[in-house]
Amino acid sequence: MKRIGILTSGGDAPGMNAAIRAVVRTAVYHGYEVMGIERGYCGILEDWMTPMNSRSVSEILQKGGTILKTARCDAFNSKEGIQKAVEVIQKREIDAIVVIGGDGSFRGAEDLHKAGIPTIAIPGTIDNDLGYTDLTIGFDTAITTVMESVSKLRDTSSSHERMFVVEVMGRNCGDIALFAGVISGAEEVIVPEIPFSLPEIAHRVKRGMSGGKSHYIILVAEGATDPYIFTKELEELTQIHTRLAVIGHLQRGGSPTATDRLLATQMGARAVDELCKGRSGVAIGLQGHTLTAKSISEALAVRDTLNMELYRLAEILAR
Ligand code: ADP
Repeated sequence: MKRIGILTSGGDAPGMNAAIRAVVRTAVYHGYEVMGIERGYCGILEDWMTPMNSRSVSEILQKGGTILKTARCDAFNSKEGIQKAVEVIQKREIDAIVVIGGDGSFRGAEDLHKAGIPTIAIPGTIDNDLGYTDLTIGFDTAITTVMESVSKLRDTSSSHERMFVVEVMGRNCGDIALFAGVISGAEEVIVPEIPFSLPEIAHRVKRGMSGGKSHYIILVAEGATDPYIFTKELEELTQIHTRLAVIGHLQRGGSPTATDRLLATQMGARAVDELCKGRSGVAIGLQGHTLTAKSISEALAVRDTLNMELYRLAEILAR
């Protein structure tokens, strides 16, 4: 093996740059050349590639987003697309690919592996929706951003004795809402994994407000319900002024937290170590405090479940 290609794919996440930096510098340390592939899998099909060295990744550890750009690439997701990708990779004399992205990107990586290209996948998504790993790169920064936003909304919520519904990202996964809810002291956490009853929430709101709570913060995961309808109906049921705050893409950006930088750095280095060992089709993950390297197919087969212990704790602490 002489040359490694690296790409970021799907939704961007803070810490992707830290992972790119670790992959490039670890590869250079082991004597490999690195090719930076731009805009995800589209960059393979379109041959958007530039050689990278240690200096190419200077000053990016602290930056959000991804210097390699990212994209969703439907053309890759077909038999012809994979075949074309393999041809370009071979023409460019790239011996292995490191992919940083979410579950869709992992499926692409698995396809490349099956087509005979040595491939390693690193989990980069703010959603934390990959069940095989305790953490994905970007999640800690996203929940920190939500925590800071909620802390500001809480000031207004208390001062005006108003309720705030805060919509957060996560697609079909409630982790951002749950973890951010716990660290922000939210009164309610609405996640796609658990059905909710609006009248019951309204009852708790009224009980909380009449019991001395001056604020009420409800975190709603985007996959759980329509936040506009939810807010309107809750206001009607409670007769308490309710405002909706949509944090949106603010939670996708920003400088990565210490946890995300460390995770991305260790995962990036481990990806190259796995290639050095001759492995392919491998997903880097974290279990407890230990990095793991299991097959991508095994990783994708692990169902992502909500941390019910934390969910119950959120309920207890919100009283
Ligand atoms: P994420 O990686 O963040 O989950 P997407 O689901 O949009 O983001 O996937 C990113 C890219 O990965 C897609 O645009 C496509 O190129 C590739 N991809 C997604 N699903 C598959 C699949 N089933 N097989 C092959 N490639 C896929």
